[in-house]
Amino acid sequence: MKADQFQAPDYYNLDELLSDEHKMVRDAAREWVKREVSPIIEEAAQKAEFPKQLIKGLAEIGAFGPYIPEEYGGAGLDQISYGLIMQEIERGDSGVRSTASVQSSLVMYPIFKYGTEEQKKKYLPKLASGEMMGCFGLTEPDHGSNPGGMTTNFKDKGDYYLLNGAKMWISNATFADIAIVWAKDEEGRIHGLIVERGMEGFTTPETHNKWSLRASATGELVFNNVKVPKENLMPEKSGLGAPLGCLDSARYGIAWGAIGAAMDCYDTALRYAKEREQFGKPIASFQLQQKKLAEMITEITKAQLLAWRLGVMRNEGTATSAQISMAKRNNVAMAINIAREARQILGGMGITGEYSIMRHSMNLESVITYEGTHDIHLLITGLDITGIPAFQ
Ligand SMILES: Cc1cc2nc3c(=O)[nH]c(=O)nc-3n(C[C@H](O)[C@H](O)[C@H](O)COP(=O)(O)OP(=O)(O)OC[C@H]3O[C@@H](n4cnc5c(N)ncnc54)[C@H](O)[C@@H]3O)c2cc1C
Repeated sequence: MKADQFQAPDYYNLDELLSDEHKMVRDAAREWVKREVSPIIEEAAQKAEFPKQLIKGLAEIGAFGPYIPEEYGGAGLDQISYGLIMQEIERGDSGVRSTASVQSSLVMYPIFKYGTEEQKKKYLPKLASGEMMGCFGLTEPDHGSNPGGMTTNFKDKGDYYLLNGAKMWISNATFADIAIVWAKDEEGRIHGLIVERGMEGFTTPETHNKWSLRASATGELVFNNVKVPKENLMPEKSGLGAPLGCLDSARYGIAWGAIGAAMDCYDTALRYAKEREQFGKPIASFQLQQKKLAEMITEITKAQLLAWRLGVMRNEGTATSAQISMAKRNNVAMAINIAREARQILGGMGITGEYSIMRHSMNLESVITYEGTHDIHLLITGLDITGIPAFQ
């Protein structure tokens, strides 16, 4: 892969909206990605392997639980810093950002929000340091966009809960030490359970042959009469709102992360267009190529403003789930469109692993589908503005 020459676009001087701490956190993540991720990520993606050697560094830049309080091992940062870290990691690769998102928003967040004090003390510091890794099991083979229909269930056996069922498409499944599993009790109410690797009857087969998020490990979670200790149930929230609360946090991070992937594609295409000559001139001098590049920077700038404003509202505690849906949907679509256009600017070179664009493009095909598909987020906006659900 080509040396990482990334220069971040900031067309509207958005840096002026950031505090010194935001910039320090962002710059540390940016440097780390350049040093540790860029040199190895293409090979990891080609081999379809999650680069586990990045776990320690991810923890050091605060990517595991950025906004979890320091008393539990988190970085105690605000929502803008969290977003900026996700942006920088996804600038490197969406798969690596997925690992960080799952660990922070889908494993640490539910333990922090819905767990007991004992659970917080037992798991959070180890998850923050990367000593322990987690995954999040909501999606099932027959229930994706409609997770409320899940059939994974547990029965109260007096001394323990007996868990049965299966989850699929689970990021980090193959190496996670713990899984946050959403399952129904005997009354059909959804609860979160902390299932540990090694519990009898719990297996995590890998999902092979992906063309997308190849540097992220994806797998199934299979529960065959797993005896889960009663103290592993997270008691503070139940119902579908509990997993959806985690998804709000993760989707917010994705809204920022997608900007990182888009920035990388734009920056690569701009540099290439200025250097590559055809018909005796740089291809950047042709109007058709300028149109592509001008539209890219316009869309990136709009997405940056959307994410920043959402971050301010998240800090104030006023951002709604529907507002988060809008940003996730818009920014991921923006990024995937930019990746496709940027790929064309590189001509044949665009399809090779010499450049990051094709990898970003393929990765974003998962990002536009997971954590609520593009269409489902549109229906959430539709419901919010009309008051009428159009899901069924
Ligand atoms: C690489 C990867 C990693 C993932 N990681 C995780 C993870 O860590 N944990 C986890 O729990 N899940 C994970 N997922 C699962 C992901 O969240 C689901 O794939 C997603 O929610 C969509 O579900 P589905 O694939 O079953 O598609 P479906 O729900 O079957 O949807 C198929 C199509 O139908 C459309 N559709 C569905 N319902 C409606 C409707 N009412 N109206 C209009 N259109 C509709 C959808 O928009 C979509 O286009 C991951 C997925 C991928 C690909």
